[in-house]
Amino acid sequence: AIPLVVAMSTSLSAKNGLLIKNRTAFENARNISIVVFDKTGTLTEGKFGVSSVKSSDTGYGEKEIIQFASALEKSSEHPIARGILDRAQELGLSVPDVSDFEAIKGKGVKGIVDGKKVKVVSPGYLKEAGIDIPDHAKDEQLTVVFVLKDEKIIGTISLSDRIREDSYDAIQKLKELGIKCWMLTGDNNQIAKKVHDELNLDGYFAEVLPHEKLEKIKELQSQNEYVAMTGDGVNDAPALAQADVGIAIGSGTDIAAETADIILVESNPKDVTSLIIFGRATYKKMI
Ligand code: ADP
Ligand code: MG
Repeated sequence: AIPLVVAMSTSLSAKNGLLIKNRTAFENARNISIVVFDKTGTLTEGKFGVSSVKSSDTGYGEKEIIQFASALEKSSEHPIARGILDRAQELGLSVPDVSDFEAIKGKGVKGIVDGKKVKVVSPGYLKEAGIDIPDHAKDEQLTVVFVLKDEKIIGTISLSDRIREDSYDAIQKLKELGIKCWMLTGDNNQIAKKVHDELNLDGYFAEVLPHEKLEKIKELQSQNEYVAMTGDGVNDAPALAQADVGIAIGSGTDIAAETADIILVESNPKDVTSLIIFGRATYKKMI
């Protein structure tokens, strides 16, 4: 039988935006020493808008750059894809067909458009491929992706997302509870640092590939931290499973919700605070 205090706290949790899938994880929430948040779609809204398009000197202008990119992004579910497709629509562009589409995990997308090999990729991809980052992209404090044709950069697209209004409060309250707040992201270091500074986080990992997210959680666990991971994406699922307490954003992907112990049904990062407060209160009543 479920003890009365636990049953009561469960219905309280429901009222506070928490869906508890794993009771043990809920009871262990009182032990959490650090909360690691995914950036895109968790601390931020995950809705990108294109804020600038810069041409390299290969003769392609904004329209062609967006057109090539949108052809690929039509087949992607990444929030960056939505932003680029919205821009194509605003410009009234037709979106060409793509063949041999492939996602390059945590780095971008590629395919054949109009008979040409096209890619839309991250700064990390360029580094690995030994392609120089254009000067105009070096100090960009936004999310940047590069459009490549035959492995040459034809343009740079900068996109901006917004920090969720509730993230500020969430971080402040968690810190007041004595909990460290970190961020984990596949996005570039400059934007990660900017979000880190703005939210006054305790630390961050940037340019982390999907398979490395889990390793970062292990790294913290090996430093004697009791880790909660909060995320929304397909990429976050292994890290959610590895964490001592896995927390999914309700509006995120099914796989994140399936993997997590607890779901934030209102998609509000602030509810992580309620989770810890309830976890602590429930435990006190049981002893
Ligand atoms: P996160 O979810 O933390 O943003 P991802 O691993 O999904 O991280 O993506 C990391 C980076 O890979 C993105 O910031 C972007 O540079 C690049 N990327 C991933 N998917 C796409 C896509 N569909 N189009 C363009 N770039 C992409
Ligand atoms: Mg995300």
